[in-house]
Formats: sequence, C-alpha cells, structure tokens
Amino acid sequence: MREQGMLIVVSGPSGVGKGTLCNILVSKVEDVFLSTSATTRLPRPGELDGVNYIFMSHENFEDKIKKGQFLEWAKVYTNYYGTPKDVVIKKLSEGKDVILEIDIQGAAQVKKNYPEGIFIFIAPPSIEELEKRIIKRGSDTKDSVDLRLKCAKEEIQAAFDYDYVIINEDLDTAALMLQSIVLAERCRVSRNKKKLLEIKGGSQL
Ligand code: 5GP
Repeated sequence: MREQGMLIVVSGPSGVGKGTLCNILVSKVEDVFLSTSATTRLPRPGELDGVNYIFMSHENFEDKIKKGQFLEWAKVYTNYYGTPKDVVIKKLSEGKDVILEIDIQGAAQVKKNYPEGIFIFIAPPSIEELEKRIIKRGSDTKDSVDLRLKCAKEEIQAAFDYDYVIINEDLDTAALMLQSIVLAERCRVSRNKKKLLEIKGGSQL
C-alpha cells in the first residue's frame, strides 16, 4: 500500500467521452477512486444524487464555498461545479489515486494548489466528430450544442498546459492510454524511493 495516492485531473470538452474513460479506468485499475462532484445543475434522466453528482441548491453551494469546503470550484455554462475537499484528502492519505473529472478552470486552480498533480486532457479527433457525438447523446438543444462547441475550441487551447493528451478516436485505445498513464506514473522513481530503500536495505539514497 502506498502512503500517498496521486491526484489525477482529467478534463476535456463536453461529449468527448471522459466520463466513460474514467469509469473504465476505475473498473480496470485497482486503488483508483473517482471523486463525486457537487453541482447546482438539475439531474439528467437516470442520474442519481450521490452517484453521478451531489446535487444541491445555489445557496447551499455558495455556503460551502464560503466555508472553504471545495478543493476547487467553477461556474461552468450557468451552474456551479465543485470538488468536495474532505473526501479527496482522505482517499489520497489512504494511498488511493483520486481522479477529478473537472473543467479547465477547476484544473487551473488545482494546478496552482497541487502542482504535483497529473493533468490529462481528452481531445476529440475533430470538432466535427465532437458535434456528432453531442447530438447523438441527445440531451442538448441546438443552442446548447452550439455553446458546447464554442467552449470546446477554447478548452482545446488549454490542453497545452496539461501533461498528457489522449485523442479519443477509438474508445478501447483511449482507455488503454489512460490506464497506461496512471500505471506509468505509479512507477516513477520519485514515488518509489522508500520502497527501493527497503528492497536494497539501509537508509541511504
Ligand atoms: P456536465 O454538466 O456535462 O456533467 O458537466 C459539465 C462540465 O463540468 C464538464 O466539463 C465537467 O468536467 C465539469 N465538471 C464536473 N464536475 C466538476 C467539478 O467538480 N469541478 C469543475 N471545475 N468542473 C466540473
């Protein structure tokens, strides 16, 4: 068991498939915890409180901002979204890797406060393909699709500040890439110094 888990931020435009990729990661790789965000937006059909999101009122959310209970938060489109701090800190201290599936504004806040985090951007193969996927999902009006596509272009510009980019052209390949990044990051010498010393014997690096 590792003493401290890794904080892994996954961002990407709406409809790019980051939720699916994160769920596959959790099902395939041990000791990965997917943080459940809080939001003021209404649940979509089939979404459950405490599972997909912790749904709450604007007042409740703003109260939690004031009390410093979010690791990061942002207003995305017209609603608040935020990462509850306590549970993330607890999971990291239990040696679990924590995935935050958050937007680029939230990721920038995390980068400021946790520069040691791992930042992964999921990009679509093209804007045209992204448009097809959002329309196929069927939960957005024409205006909402247009807004998401406009934001997507700005979001892709932010990818230059991330550590890794995965182009989600083929789901299986993209899922393997995400798992590979997490597993490779676990193998960094800097994260395994204590273990190496135990294997070697002695306390000198
Ligand atoms: P959706 O409403 O489609 O579920 O999510 C809209 C956007 O909010 C997505 O880009 C998603 O990554 C982002 N998001 C979800 N949870 C959080 C969060 O806790 N913090 C931030 N900053 N963004 C989030």
